[in-house]
Formats: sequence, C-alpha cells, structure tokens
Amino acid sequence: MRNQELSKIFNEIAEYLEMEGVPFKPYAYQKAAITLAALKDDVGEVYEKRGIKGLKEIPGVGASISQKIEEFLRTGKIEYYEEFKRKMPVELDEIVKVEGVGPRKAKVLFENLGVRNLQELEDAAKAHKIAPLFGFGDKSEQNILEALEFLKRSHGRFLLGEILPAAQAVLERLKQLKEVEAIDTAGSLRRMKETIGDVDFLVISRDPQKVMDFFVSLPGVVKVWGKGSTKSSVRLKEGFDMDLRVIPPESYGAALQYFTGSKDHNIELRKIAIDRGLKLSEYGLFQGPRMVAGKTEEEVYRALGMEWIPPEMRENMGEIDAALAGELPRIIDYGDVKGDLHVHCNWNGGANSIEELAAAAMALGYEYIGISDHTKFLRIERGLDEETLKKRNKEIEGINERLRQEGKVFRVLKGCEANIMSDGSIDIDDEALAELDYVIAGVHSQFKMSREVMTERLITALKNPHVDIISHPTGRILKRRDEYEVDLGRVLEAAKDYRKVLEINAYPERLDLNDVNILRAKKLGVRMVINTDTHQVSQLHLMKFGVAQARRGWAERADIINTWPVEELLRVFQ
Ligand SMILES: [Zn+2]
Ligand SMILES: [Zn+2]
Repeated sequence: MRNQELSKIFNEIAEYLEMEGVPFKPYAYQKAAITLAALKDDVGEVYEKRGIKGLKEIPGVGASISQKIEEFLRTGKIEYYEEFKRKMPVELDEIVKVEGVGPRKAKVLFENLGVRNLQELEDAAKAHKIAPLFGFGDKSEQNILEALEFLKRSHGRFLLGEILPAAQAVLERLKQLKEVEAIDTAGSLRRMKETIGDVDFLVISRDPQKVMDFFVSLPGVVKVWGKGSTKSSVRLKEGFDMDLRVIPPESYGAALQYFTGSKDHNIELRKIAIDRGLKLSEYGLFQGPRMVAGKTEEEVYRALGMEWIPPEMRENMGEIDAALAGELPRIIDYGDVKGDLHVHCNWNGGANSIEELAAAAMALGYEYIGISDHTKFLRIERGLDEETLKKRNKEIEGINERLRQEGKVFRVLKGCEANIMSDGSIDIDDEALAELDYVIAGVHSQFKMSREVMTERLITALKNPHVDIISHPTGRILKRRDEYEVDLGRVLEAAKDYRKVLEINAYPERLDLNDVNILRAKKLGVRMVINTDTHQVSQLHLMKFGVAQARRGWAERADIINTWPVEELLRVFQ
C-alpha cells in the first residue's frame, strides 16, 4: 500500500529537517505521515479520482506535501527526500534510538566524523573522537557508549513498569468505544514479564474499521506501521510498538492463549494437542475440520485435559505438567497483600511523614505498614543513628496509640533498613535493633567483591539474630547494573537454616528476587516478603509489580509473609 510507504518517507523527511534545525516543518511532515498511515482510502485512488485537489483535502496535507505525493505516485520517488539521503546517508532510524543522540547530534557526528550507523558510532566513541566535538564532551561520550551497550543487551526491550501505565491507559480508552465488545492485552505484558518488547491487544468487534481508525489516531501515536481490518500496528511516543488484532468471537480464547505465549509454553501445549489427535492454533483447537474449543481460554485448556493456567506462569517451567496433574499451586493474588514492610519516611531520605504513609496504606486496604528507614552508614539518604531511631520510634508509638483510641485496627510497625557492611556486620548497635518490631538488612555499598566473600557477607548477616529480612538480595538494577557475584544457592540454604525472610523488591527497576529465584526459594521452603521500597507515597502502588513477580515464581500465600495477619507476621520476627 502506497500510504504506508509515503508515511515512512515523510517521517524520515521530518527527521532530516530536524537534523537541519528547521523549525515547524518537521511537525508538518510528521502529521502528514500519521494521517497517511491511518487513511482508509488508498492515496493512489484518491489521486486517480480527484487529482491533486483530492490530495489537498486530506487533513494535514497542504499544497507542498500534496505535490510530493503526486511526484511519488507518478515517478516512484520524491526528489526532495532523495537529496536528503544523498547529502546525509545516515541510518537515522537506528542512530536516534541511542539515548542522548537526536537528529541534530546525528548531523554533527556525520559531518565531523562520518558516522552513518551504530557500528561507526561505537568506533568513534571508543576512539575518543566524540568528546572533543562541540556540544558533546567526555560525559556524553561515555553516555553514548553506555547507551550502545544497553541497546545491545536489551534488544529494545522496555521495563514493565514503564510500559504498563501507558498500555493500561490505551486499554481504558479502547474499552470505552461502543464498537469494542471485548478487549484484552496479550503477550509478555499479560504475563507481567519484567521487560516487554511490544504491546498486543486483542479485540472482538463487529465494526473493526471504527476500532482501527480510533487506534491509529490515539494521542501519543507517532508512527503507524500498518493499518488493516484485522490488524494495525503503531509506535507510541514512548518508543514502543502496539499491535491491535480483531478476532472472531468463536476464536477469541484460542487467540488470547496463542498471543499470550510464551513461545515455549505454546510449543509444549501444541505437542499435547497432537498427542490427543488435535490441532491447536490461534484459530482454535480442532479435531479434523471440527472446532473443539476456542471461544474462551478456559475451554481450550480444559479440552487439552488441564486446568486454566494463570498467564504469569506460562513460561514452560513445569506448569503444564502441574496443570495436567491437577496440581497447579494456588498462587497469590493481587489483592492478597496485607501490608508493606519496606517504606522510607521523612526521618531519612523519604518524602512523606509516617502519618501520610499510614493514611495511604489504610486507603489501599492494608492492615499494617512497616517504616524501615535507612540507618547511619547511608549518609546520602540521611540514615538514622541510634538516638534518632529512638525518637522516630516514639513518633510511631504515638500514632499507634491514637489509632487505637480511634478504634482502628491498622498498625504502624517499627523497622529499619540497616546496612550490611563488607564483613557482614550491621552498621547500628544491637540495642537499637532490639527495640524494633523487625529489621531489614541490605547491601548498599561495595558491590564488587569476589563471589566467595560476598556469599560469606550475606550469610554472616543472615546469622545475625536481629536481622529478619534481607532486602533486594541480589542487588541488580535492570538496565543499569547486573546482580553482584554471589552463590545464591548457599544464601537460600542459610535463609532456610536461620529461618530468615528474603525480599521480593517490587520496584520495577529491581524486581529482586526475580521469578526464577523466587521459585528456587519456594521449593526450598524459604519465606519471602513483597515490599515496594517506597520513598514517596505514590510508590506504594508499585506493589503489583512485586506480586506479579511472585506469581511468576509460583509463590503462594504461605510463602509470602505479608499476606498474613499482623500477629502471625510478628511471630516470624520473634
Ligand atoms: Zn535498600
Ligand atoms: Zn530501601
């Protein structure tokens, strides 16, 4: 379709114009690109029927752009665009993906160093040719190298935490369309994987055209890769792509199953279908030409002889065998959490008072919140010393007293997040720790140690009778830092032996323990807690990411102590 080709060319012209620093014009081309991609009628037919006048009537297409469309329809190319390409043969689409390199910087890099693609960009940065350029410097050269490294590692994947809010907003908008009879997200987003490639929506609709028109013209759409009656594909300004498919109602469950994945899970499922003389596809489960199941996911799984499997578990980690045996664990639910134990208040580096945090936790329906301020070693976070910790405890006791008088069952627990020093000791006195309801300890410094020494460091901390919970046990930060070298198997054993709790940190950049390690811990019988590591009140909402990770690791309520009532919880800490 010529609409899409033209749309792509106009997008690139917009980028070239931006390279040149031309004001306003790039926006006009972008707008035309979006309109064309979303246009119902083929632009060639419009031109055949009504000439250049018809083109001009397309919204966003003015005199100059309609001439270029005419040129393209007659000659197959646009000279204006060809000239840009001759002058600046740069793979713009690739280069602008590097964080910190926009079209204008790409121009400087090309004109001074001849950089045309990612490889040449990396070579130039490694040879320190970028730092001396005007507008760059050592720091930005270093940043470019890191961004390139990241691009290689992440293959363009995004954090679940970055994508989920945008995807949910789109879902809500689509839901409100009267033409949308059913809608779901599929893919890795539905499985709540920690990083996401793109977003998939499945829809039932008797009027797909209206749904597609709406979808491709959503605010925030910067590119339309394709628009048809059963599938459309767009890019959002945040940089990720979204696909929307319209599915016949009788195939909806099969399609949802198919597009949710994972690939490995689906391959196993298809084998089971074959063993039973059936054929499973995105259209349904078939016996010969007869459809056996397809309308709902439940009926597809049932027809294959198993219970429905929660999307988070569909990673081919043994869930299919468990489902066939009727032994799927009853994994925890998003509403099962009764409190959050890793919360920083304004006594240390947090933004909110204990009162504000407690009120927000009550509004979430929690029964308790644990305040876990940093202790004294962490100066940047204004870590508390023994004396300030005492004063903070007094404030908590006062709040609890008032809550009791008001007849509320809600409770604020006294905790801290102490630092595990390089030798495994804790940075604050035992007496101060003894006055708390519970103690979290975590590694916040000296991440680069030998595996042996780091393992001993964590085990020493686990042996400490005051320590109850180890926060973010592997120290990884997604997109920034790998986990430190540690023998996690030995740490898990020690946690089990000393009856200590390991954290599932819900922060989208951390998600630490991750799904695989959660399953390992669960199988060993190590108890866990899901915490948000909140530093400001809005972050209490991050809990869902930790719960998702726990579900992916098959965790049940019995494994996760903050799904328990407060008395049981406190018994663990005694
Ligand atoms: Zn921490
Ligand atoms: Zn923390």
